[in-house]
Amino acid sequence: MTFLSKQLIDKQELLEEDVKEIEDLHHQKDFLFELMKELDPQYITHDRMVAKLYANLLESLEYNMQRVWKFEQNQEYHSWWYKIPHCKCPKMDNADPLYSGRRIISGDCVIHNGKPANAFPVKGASE
Ligand SMILES: [Zn+2]
Repeated sequence: MTFLSKQLIDKQELLEEDVKEIEDLHHQKDFLFELMKELDPQYITHDRMVAKLYANLLESLEYNMQRVWKFEQNQEYHSWWYKIPHCKCPKMDNADPLYSGRRIISGDCVIHNGKPANAFPVKGASE
């Protein structure tokens, strides 16, 4: 069961259906993390592409989360991206408010290092 702050729910004047949606988004995130654990993005190219796709989906879930919570939809305040399984980006630095708005990407992280667009095959592209 997801723990949600009753105080924050009241402050944001969320409805019961909003709370239900937030719980659902948490469950989707948990399931996505489970699926990620089954991948081997470090050594398998296909898994790396799937992992990057999941990482993009995770960002969408987090944008949705901000929307339902009635917060500003701002990627700078996302906190799930570096918690995704197989991510090698520094956890403590990325959680530090000092670096807020600046993502610290590890060169070893096969999920976040490099341009995501390069990871996906484009139909009709000459490669
Ligand atoms: Zn990473």
